[in-house]
Amino acid sequence: MGERITRIGLMGGTFDPIHNGHLVLAEQVRTRFQMDKILFIPSGNPPHKELVASKEHRLKMTQLAIEDNPYFELSTIELDQDHKTYTIDTVRRLRKEYGDNTQVYFITGADAIIDLPTWKDVHELVQLCSFIGSTRPGVNEKELSEQIDALVRDFKADITITQVPALAISSTDIRRRVKYNLSIKYLLPAKTEAYIYEHELYKDSRKVL
Ligand code: NAP
Repeated sequence: MGERITRIGLMGGTFDPIHNGHLVLAEQVRTRFQMDKILFIPSGNPPHKELVASKEHRLKMTQLAIEDNPYFELSTIELDQDHKTYTIDTVRRLRKEYGDNTQVYFITGADAIIDLPTWKDVHELVQLCSFIGSTRPGVNEKELSEQIDALVRDFKADITITQVPALAISSTDIRRRVKYNLSIKYLLPAKTEAYIYEHELYKDSRKVL
């Protein structure tokens, strides 16, 4: 009998901060695709982005948010690097680590996946993993599915789009709420919320949005 195929989900994002929308998405995808685990991979220095909270804070907030789910794990594979990090390098390394009997799914926001043609070594990347893109309520689904269909056709990528109502929560909105002293209770795990206040994150008025 052949060895059992393991399925892992790589949950990539800035997580600035992580919130319940991310957690609900990860749990729904895990059960729907019968994944063995979900690795949360906070981006190190994303190629095109200015971050608000430091690597250390984003790492700690993610750790606190996922620690009570035995299927969730934190990976510092991108945070540990000082240079720019690309998904292809992360997926290559993890595929090597987990071996050929592992099926890999990269999970992130659908609008990030729309830009796939600009990602480094996209032709190899689509061979190495499937993609799960999540959308928020209110997104124009017709336009999105046309864009995804074109990607599937042009790159032979395996992409599934899933709408997660809990993703009405967004990191941008949480940062804005903290800045204006509005409540963020129930939008993210209580331990992560407490960490934000303890370290006075997102108070800096210039950089929040
Ligand atoms: P982002 O700008 O932080 O997010 C774009 C949108 O997607 C936002 O609406 C965001 O909502 C949502 N989002 C981000 N991560 C998500 C997740 N895991 N689940 C659900 N929604 C998510 O995107 P990013 O962090 O730069 O990029 C996302 C992932 O794609 C990262 O792992 C990044 O490394 C990878 N990526 C790779 C390349 C490349 O290799 N060249 C290029 C672009 C992106 P919230 O703000 O609420 O999270």
